[in-house]
Amino acid sequence: MYVNRVSVTSTKPDKCSRESGVDLLVTMLAAYRMNGQICGREWPIVAEGEIVSAIVLSPEERSFDARFNGKYVTAAMAHCEAEGLLITLEVLGEDAESLPSCQCHRPSAYVLFTSYTALESPIRCMDCFGPIALYHMEVMASGEFHELVTWQSDYQSCDQLQMNCSVLEQEATRELSSIDSSLNKIGLAHCQTLATTSNRPFYYYLFSGESESLQTELERRCPGCGNDWRLTSRLHDLFDFRCDRCRLLSNIAFDVRWELSAEPGRTPEGTPTNEPKLI
Ligand SMILES: [Zn+2]
Ligand SMILES: [Zn+2]
Repeated sequence: MYVNRVSVTSTKPDKCSRESGVDLLVTMLAAYRMNGQICGREWPIVAEGEIVSAIVLSPEERSFDARFNGKYVTAAMAHCEAEGLLITLEVLGEDAESLPSCQCHRPSAYVLFTSYTALESPIRCMDCFGPIALYHMEVMASGEFHELVTWQSDYQSCDQLQMNCSVLEQEATRELSSIDSSLNKIGLAHCQTLATTSNRPFYYYLFSGESESLQTELERRCPGCGNDWRLTSRLHDLFDFRCDRCRLLSNIAFDVRWELSAEPGRTPEGTPTNEPKLI
């Protein structure tokens, strides 16, 4: 990701107050976010004289190119300009902590994946596991990616609760793990939509945090079709299960997985299974 300064400068201070300038800037940033051109929603804003500026993260160096603007971004920018605001977009540099974006020419498949700490796009490449900016996909029914950004926010809220282990832990963990939870039903529906518009397989990740035992976990079948879905080797250092029929991914529960490497003669790859191939 990249760190940017987005500024609006009032050319007609008598027409547009500083408060209005802040409001118009925030509306434009929100439109950029829902189009995937800004990641995250924490953007400190500084108002100095006629200039109001915000520091924001973008997925790529060229995220603010006009060719990526959605209709709501275009409308928000036009509104700013109509109020006499001059818009300036400046790349300050690459974010030192974030994951590099996917550079694959044409990913063979995608996965919807996020976590409580992720600021990146929830669309990941199945080949390199790098994040893919939302605006590279076809817009959703809302005319932007509002549906997906909302799903990501809901997912991260549940993931944060299960990590904190103090409030609604069981409920949040069920939302993340169960194939028929509200959160996962919505995520799976988004995967279907995105699979259709991208014409590529789109996988969904089912979290597994705890299990009765390692053996129970190793014998787990795909919750969609009941088939064997164990992978012979771990994919992207996270996924131990994959069903190509249901487009599902999962991991060996984190609380028992360590036992694999602790057992003599047993590798983390475990029992060989019929690894399915990506279609
Ligand atoms: Zn890639
Ligand atoms: Zn299945």
